[in-house]
Amino acid sequence: MQFDIITIFPDIFDSYINESILKRALQKKLIKITSHDLRKFSTAKGIHKSVDDKPYGGGPGMILMVEPIDKALRALKLKTKSKKSKTRVIMLTPAGQRFTQREAERLAKYDRLVLLCGRYEGFDARVDELVDEKISIGDYVLAGGELPALVVAEAVARNIPGVVGHEHALDDETFSHDLEYIEYPQYSRPENFKGMTVPEVLLSGDHKKISEWRKTQSKRIK
Ligand code: SAM
Repeated sequence: MQFDIITIFPDIFDSYINESILKRALQKKLIKITSHDLRKFSTAKGIHKSVDDKPYGGGPGMILMVEPIDKALRALKLKTKSKKSKTRVIMLTPAGQRFTQREAERLAKYDRLVLLCGRYEGFDARVDELVDEKISIGDYVLAGGELPALVVAEAVARNIPGVVGHEHALDDETFSHDLEYIEYPQYSRPENFKGMTVPEVLLSGDHKKISEWRKTQSKRIK
């Protein structure tokens, strides 16, 4: 899976990626992540390479212009028009479709995801025509699309076979069965922490009983 992140802060991702599960996935060549500096596609004259401008009709702040984004997408030479396209161009926006575990699983089936990060007051509305879909990571507004891009990349990457170390680690995870399912409680050493003890059954070594207990302990979000 190839992730292309279009952003005005292309260097913001490295420190997180290098300390996360994404690094191992990169090393195993299961994924590739490339960040592209939107400013390189600025159509403005002068040294500032601006990619934003004031909105027509007035209003607070600046918005990202459509032309640099169009140029950046064309430079990626995407083959999105083909029906068999395994590429998805995604705008990160609080006004998008809510991102869930099901969406992460769906997107993990593509070969290439292009993640478009907004800043300031967002995008020129014509950018909508350049993307396949719009995703929101939750009902709140962040300053930029870079954190949402990382959230999407990591959640999607975890669903690519081989990225998560243990083969069955995703089987009973929260949201695995449906979006209301919550994983059972887990314990590690010590057996007794300030009077709080590990349930007896987990120390029994009886895998059938443990599995039954876990089923009873998994919960539903109310
Ligand atoms: N004016 C925009 C609006 O009202 O929808 C908000 C712009 S926000 C300050 C700047 C950028 O941050 C957005 O263009 C988007 O890329 C990103 N962003 C902020 N919150 C987000 C969220 N919940 N999900 C995805 N992207 C988000």
